[in-house]
Amino acid sequence: MPQCQRCQNTWTWKETIKKSFVFKYYVICPYCKEKQVRTNSSKQNMSMAVVSPSWLLPLFILFDLPLPLLLLSYFAAFALSPFLMKLSNEDAPLW
Ligand SMILES: [Zn+2]
Repeated sequence: MPQCQRCQNTWTWKETIKKSFVFKYYVICPYCKEKQVRTNSSKQNMSMAVVSPSWLLPLFILFDLPLPLLLLSYFAAFALSPFLMKLSNEDAPLW
């Protein structure tokens, strides 16, 4: 789980999921109310985790697996993505 780099509090899963839906470049720490920026590597890792079940799509088609199982794997990937979030005080350039 992400840890605020200012107050050192570790965010809960629920707080982190809520912050995942914030589409600003920064998120506000629920403890100290200061700006925190998701690190570029954690943004990339979270994006990769959320789309990773897409790699299973050929298997689902090939073995005629039920669609709810695919949806469940997307949900599981989304539910696990907060574990990959890392925070920073400073915004780093993308490149
Ligand atoms: Zn904080």
